[in-house]
Amino acid sequence: MPSKVLLAEPRGFCAGVEMAIKALTWMVKVFEPPVYCYHEIVHNAAVVAAFERAGVVFVDDIEDVPDGSPIMLSAHGSAPEVVVTATNRAAVMVDAVCPLVTKVHHEVRRMADKGYDIIYVGHEGHDEAVGAIAEAPDVAQLVDPRVGIDTFEPRSEGGVALLAQTTLGLYEWEDVLSDAQELYPDLWTARKSDLCYATTNRQSAIQKLAERADVLLVIGSENSSNTQALVRVGSNAGVPAYRIDGPAGIHPSWLEGAEVVGVTAGASAPDQRVQDVITAVAPSEGVEVVRVTDEDEYFPLPPQLRRFMQALQALVEGGFACRNPGQDGPVDNDRDFSATEALSLLGV
Ligand code: SF4
Repeated sequence: MPSKVLLAEPRGFCAGVEMAIKALTWMVKVFEPPVYCYHEIVHNAAVVAAFERAGVVFVDDIEDVPDGSPIMLSAHGSAPEVVVTATNRAAVMVDAVCPLVTKVHHEVRRMADKGYDIIYVGHEGHDEAVGAIAEAPDVAQLVDPRVGIDTFEPRSEGGVALLAQTTLGLYEWEDVLSDAQELYPDLWTARKSDLCYATTNRQSAIQKLAERADVLLVIGSENSSNTQALVRVGSNAGVPAYRIDGPAGIHPSWLEGAEVVGVTAGASAPDQRVQDVITAVAPSEGVEVVRVTDEDEYFPLPPQLRRFMQALQALVEGGFACRNPGQDGPVDNDRDFSATEALSLLGV
């Protein structure tokens, strides 16, 4: 039996996921089902299943949403034409795109407008990569880090820009960056890489765990890019690393002879799953938190949702149903409400 669990800090929900989960929770509380969501709100099977039970219908084609329905767009960012279609057909359209993904969309548009060809480093078919490339499909080409830039062919005489999916492994980004700098000496890239703070912090934390752990457990879904990157960072550090959805995924042979078990979670994995895994591992000497940094990032709810909730509140006050007209509305105290609490309302 393992004697100790080393628990990564930070781990689990990032600010973008917090915002998206709380926003969709508001949608299911305010609207009669079904509420439609374009793409999985975040890439976690337990979170998606909880919202499905609460009346959310997830679609991969915006044309599958009936006219006049409430629609949310996922945290991964959507193609411009999807945003337009959703806006035109929705009763209320809320775009829960993470602001850090929006920043990359802006970069794609800005560099395309300047005449650059764009290498977008990302994973084929990932929702975030599809949405970002759709900002400038004629000049942005997807380069999978596992393949490298050999397939990239600039189509114009302008410069070359290098942008990336926010959830890549740092090692994936650095490999492509050094190859591209060698091939294109005038390469443009963002001063700070597009990899987001949550991605890099969680990768630093698992590297720290790998210095002391005999085995690493990474909680998150199969289609979660940042979860898969954590597994690869752990393996690259020379420690057996396994992705699991929860305690049921632990194979007893993984823990045989393991004294110290490192535990972390991808940015879309609920903390309840982490606690369940620790309970299943049952370390005889308890849990030690290994902290590499503090995170206090906070992203406010999407503006469309805030405007809608404020209008709703004004309506209620105007109808004399509110005892204290003018007081803070429910979304004004959003900072005090966590996605974990939101999910507990949905039974996660
Ligand atoms: S992983 Fe990073 S980019 Fe993705 S939602 Fe979280 S904070 Fe935003």
